[in-house]
Amino acid sequence: MKIYNTLTNKKEEFIPVIKDEISIYVCGPTVYNFFHIGNARPLIFFDVVKKYFEYLGNKVTLVRNITDIDDKLIDQSLEEKIPVADIAEKYTKAFLEDSGSLGVSPADHQPKATEYIGEMIKLIKELEERSYAYEINGDVYFSVTNSKDYGKLSGKKLDELQAGARVKTNKQKKHPADFTLWKKAKPGEPKWTSPWGEGRPGWHTECVVMSRKLFGKTFDIHGGGIDLIFPHHENEIAQAEASTGNKLANYWMHNGYLNIEGEKMSKSLDNFFTARDILKKFNAEAIRFFFLSKHYRSPIDFNEKILEESQQAIRNLYNTIENSGYDLKNDIYLKYDDSVQKYKDKFIVAMNDDFNTAKAIAILFEISKAYNKINDKSLIKLLIELGKVLGFFSDLERTLSNNIEPISEKLISLLIEYRDNFKLEKKWELADAIRDDLKELGIILKDTLNGTEWKIKK
Ligand SMILES: [Zn+2]
Repeated sequence: MKIYNTLTNKKEEFIPVIKDEISIYVCGPTVYNFFHIGNARPLIFFDVVKKYFEYLGNKVTLVRNITDIDDKLIDQSLEEKIPVADIAEKYTKAFLEDSGSLGVSPADHQPKATEYIGEMIKLIKELEERSYAYEINGDVYFSVTNSKDYGKLSGKKLDELQAGARVKTNKQKKHPADFTLWKKAKPGEPKWTSPWGEGRPGWHTECVVMSRKLFGKTFDIHGGGIDLIFPHHENEIAQAEASTGNKLANYWMHNGYLNIEGEKMSKSLDNFFTARDILKKFNAEAIRFFFLSKHYRSPIDFNEKILEESQQAIRNLYNTIENSGYDLKNDIYLKYDDSVQKYKDKFIVAMNDDFNTAKAIAILFEISKAYNKINDKSLIKLLIELGKVLGFFSDLERTLSNNIEPISEKLISLLIEYRDNFKLEKKWELADAIRDDLKELGIILKDTLNGTEWKIKK
């Protein structure tokens, strides 16, 4: 299997630290507001990464942190006039609800930054003792010039960063790219006691500490959006390597940007959508289809028309399965012969090539098309199996239980016709008996102006 590693800028053979056990850390939300539709991309994509590794027989541990202390939370607390801890609680709850509504499985661990403050202070002290950090008036900075190869993830050079620094940069820092490890608290702000006075840790320190604490060593994959490469992930690497000399993670994976009708999403452009807004209009699998139909590293353009098309496309796959009269409970005897197995092999080749979900989805449609031609039920079984790897068909059990074989439909129509005739002949008892007997079987008849309708009792 090959994965594109941002650290080396190429696709590399994926070799986990421990065979058949895969460790993934994905930077999670800063819980100061509802998350936007762009944030849904890494949530859905890494959910698929985990599902696919599991499909291949691995045990996967996925960690997604929650940043519950940050300047943004402090600003929001002033705006909403409620304490920072309440802001954190409110939007953590919203995050878990909305990611659940998107069909994203909960992470195996969801560490909160505020639960690791002591560990972060320990790391900052260690960096200070090794001369990678310096304190000025209660603020502590990481010294990038002391770092051996700062910039190796983002490809940025220290002198470029110096030249590109804006005039307003903090004058007290030794180098404009030096970043905050510990921030002195202003009056009224949440604070913790430290060797440098009262304050709070910087964002870049938290992921290093929590990933190390939970994995205990170099882990396999560190993921996040492309906007996190610099400075966040660059700074994580610098701290990790300055403290222990060990690599933090072996593979760095980043998903591309989401644009709204060709423009960057921003509150000022009035094209800012929360995942919650979009979920009111489109179902979770349509949103998932939209993201996965493009390779995760490519930028993706969002507009309602594409979402509508995605909704229709996923519905078409559901239709193929529903119309086949497929029985989920009795499919264990279906085996894949070579002609069916070849689709499964193609799917695996696509996914093994740096998670080419766009190609994997195209294969689902090939399977659907093949079924419509030759009606081999094992193709439906495979379609469901592979669709579920991508996180689709979560609704199948419900829609299939509503489903009924076409022949049964014809029989019900026939009984309704008999009943109509009995009614015309005023044989009320016979007509009622048909209605009542069908009801016993769970089929409800309803007489309307357009004739008799029926439905299955839920
Ligand atoms: Zn992070």
